[in-house]
Amino acid sequence: MAAPLRLKSTLALVTGGGSGIGRAICQRLSQEGASVAVVDVNIDSANETLGSLSCDVPGQEHVALTADVSRSESVSALMEQIQSRFSAPPRVAVSSAGITRDEFLLRLSEENFNTVLDVNLKGPFLITQAVARSIVSSGQNGGSIINISSIVGKVGNLGQANYAASKAGLEGFTKTAAKELAKFGIRCNTVLPGFTVTPMTDTVPQKVLDKVS
Ligand code: NAP
Repeated sequence: MAAPLRLKSTLALVTGGGSGIGRAICQRLSQEGASVAVVDVNIDSANETLGSLSCDVPGQEHVALTADVSRSESVSALMEQIQSRFSAPPRVAVSSAGITRDEFLLRLSEENFNTVLDVNLKGPFLITQAVARSIVSSGQNGGSIINISSIVGKVGNLGQANYAASKAGLEGFTKTAAKELAKFGIRCNTVLPGFTVTPMTDTVPQKVLDKVS
């Protein structure tokens, strides 16, 4: 059955759109009529997603853009590119970009702690703030911000102190954003997937895979 065109005339921005869950989200949003800005640190994978999107609705236009969500200059440049290309701000923003740098706590380096927090927590902060600002300054309220967290942020996981902290932090951040942005009609939610086979899970050791399958 065809997807309902609930997102006709809506621009959606998806970070991490070049792979895994982010790619699937881009595809579903396009099937529901949205124009999609596929954002990824890797432009080749973003372009690959772009080529897989539905484009059946008149006026629907997709774009692949590169940005490193952990860097504010990169997020600012991204928003400028979107602003020059589209007449309205993104009304939907999904932060799916995420990384792991798994290591047991006793061996976890400060660098790998910071890198994971920068991408998984600071990244959604920068995107949420930039998109909310662009909606508010457009004078037309309303939007939906979705941050992809993880069930690991609720329950913890061996070898993922950095990742679990970033995902738990993302929930607290998003709940606060929801309270602050409600007056602008901007809903903010987290989604907490469980184990999902994607390129991210390629590094999971076989003995761990055996336990989750
Ligand atoms: P994935 O296939 O690795 O996709 C993540 C994408 O984000 C990749 O294209 C990656 O590019 C990109 N990315 C990494 N750093 C970035 C940055 N600084 N700026 C912009 N893009 C960046 O992972 P996934 O499994 O789809 O995960 C998507 C989200 O779901 C993540 O937030 C993850 O934590 C969460 N999640 C996944 C699972 C799971 O089991 N897969 C479970 C719970 C939650 P590169 O490949 O070039 O690094």
